[in-house]
Amino acid sequence: MKFPISMTAGLAGYILKNKMRPRPEWQKNATPEANAANPFRILSPKAGEKRQPHPMIHKRFPIVLMLEPLHACNLTCTGCGRIREYESSITERVPLEECLAAVDECGAPVVSICGGEPMMYPQIGELTAGILERDRHIYLCTNGMFIKKRLKEFTPDKRFYFNVHLDGMEKNHDIAVERVGVFREAIEGIKAAKAAGFQVCTNTTVYKETDMAEIEELFEYLKRLKVDGHQIAPAYGYSAVNDREIFLTREDVHEKFKDIGRLAKQYAIRQTPVYLEFLKGERELPCTAWGNPTYNVKGWKGPCYLITDGHYKTFEGLMTETPWESYGHGNDPRCEHCMVHCGFEPSAALGINVGLADNLKMLAWTLR
Ligand code: SF4
Ligand code: SF4
Repeated sequence: MKFPISMTAGLAGYILKNKMRPRPEWQKNATPEANAANPFRILSPKAGEKRQPHPMIHKRFPIVLMLEPLHACNLTCTGCGRIREYESSITERVPLEECLAAVDECGAPVVSICGGEPMMYPQIGELTAGILERDRHIYLCTNGMFIKKRLKEFTPDKRFYFNVHLDGMEKNHDIAVERVGVFREAIEGIKAAKAAGFQVCTNTTVYKETDMAEIEELFEYLKRLKVDGHQIAPAYGYSAVNDREIFLTREDVHEKFKDIGRLAKQYAIRQTPVYLEFLKGERELPCTAWGNPTYNVKGWKGPCYLITDGHYKTFEGLMTETPWESYGHGNDPRCEHCMVHCGFEPSAALGINVGLADNLKMLAWTLR
């Protein structure tokens, strides 16, 4: 099984509603432009015609809120941009009420609680309960080390997943997170959560040195633990991470993911078939950075989860003041090799560059 049917149906309803009634103020900064490579462009009107916005522009609304209640973490992973970028505010936390206000303000149907290590947030149980009360789906992204200790603060719910970060089998995962024993503790956490009736999925980042055969071994191992699904995506170099050797170019990503279709048939990989085709290099997708907005101690981070060109006080500010047309492949050199799921998975979900055959693929994937 991939996403639960209730979640997919809820998402589809939400997307349809937003497509039918787009917020005009979220589209207003897009100006007509001739460059066809710019996915955010507004088409210029033909002579005698009224100015028509580009159809994609009607698809600018959030799907997944990336909520970072804190940036503190008990680990110092090699590829982590957060603990470096927010070093100066690493002891700060977003108060509980402010987190919930951000959930309301954004309105996205799915909330990914990330960080930092969100299981170090003192009111993490109350935060998840408050989000579930608002009828949102939650992925609680964690390194897994505190699951056992804090499990009693949560209640199993079909809309709630622990999403445990695992970048390989024991030896290589422990190297990536720079501490021996992390893999074992994460696995203990997964076992405890499953035994208590929680849903668990895992989150794997593919780096330059990742051996995809090992990722298959990992998925096979996790299958035996009855893990409910896997997220997998390529790493991308945040400007906050100095060691660029570990990150991938687009060509590297195509090579790493060339066999992902076979893995997706064998294991419950949660990425959409359209996004997986993009990773394999079989199709193009434009970035839809607004689809996964990020809220943290500094406010609404723009333009995306990776690049920080500003923090906005309000979600409205992020949507209306960000020069969206300046970002994406071909528009900003920092975006050149980016294929991360937070930028491109929403494009697949929103049906951008997607035809009838793709819609059928997505339906088959949902029902499988
Ligand atoms: S566990 Fe997550 S937040 Fe903590 S250092 Fe590693 S990648 Fe960063
Ligand atoms: S292409 Fe990547 S880095 Fe650029 S705006 Fe989109 S998500 Fe951010």
